[in-house]
Amino acid sequence: MKTKKIKNILIGSNNPGKVREIRELLPKYIHVKSIIDYKLKSPKETGKNFLQNSYLKSKYFSKKTGKNCLADDSGLEIDILNNKPGIFSARWSGKKNNFNLAINKVFKELNKVDKNWRKKKIKARFICALTIYGPNIKKKHSIGKIEGKISNKKIGKNGFGYDPIFIPNGKKITFGQMKLKNKFKIDHRARAFRKLKKFL
Ligand code: IMP
Repeated sequence: MKTKKIKNILIGSNNPGKVREIRELLPKYIHVKSIIDYKLKSPKETGKNFLQNSYLKSKYFSKKTGKNCLADDSGLEIDILNNKPGIFSARWSGKKNNFNLAINKVFKELNKVDKNWRKKKIKARFICALTIYGPNIKKKHSIGKIEGKISNKKIGKNGFGYDPIFIPNGKKITFGQMKLKNKFKIDHRARAFRKLKKFL
């Protein structure tokens, strides 16, 4: 049986950077609101992985509002840090979402593991899990990844979060130096979206 086209979606994120990107990725005929408009706080992210957290958020916001909700959970994995910060990516920025703090923590942790890390390729990836859940749709999800490396210093003012220290494979600049529209074409969220689009 063919599922009905979704016309309204609530984006389950309080992060304006993410909301902006998700808005751009959704088909134009879909009317989009975010939980920022509803002044709802995010639930505790108690999942063990990105997928569980995206599901937990979309279900929580859908139950609170009665709407179809699209939530993402994303983060940065660094190989030599045993994939940290991973699902703790947002939490490394502290209560005030201070990404200078989070990036300094990345550098500090890398220094602990290898004093010469700045001279090496430090493999990393951004991961994004998306879940849609709501009265008009059964749970649907997808995962997108982009592989790259950690820059030996913070460069660029675009984007958000860890963008100034992530260089995607095949590029010489960080996400923080890239024009947003170019980042949105290749990043983990766009990749997860392409897979999810068939359900919309
Ligand atoms: P959460 O999904 O709300 O738990 O937060 C994910 C965290 O991962 C963000 O706060 C950022 O720290 C980081 N993150 C996820 N996607 C990106 C991105 O595209 N650029 C930079 N940082 C990101």
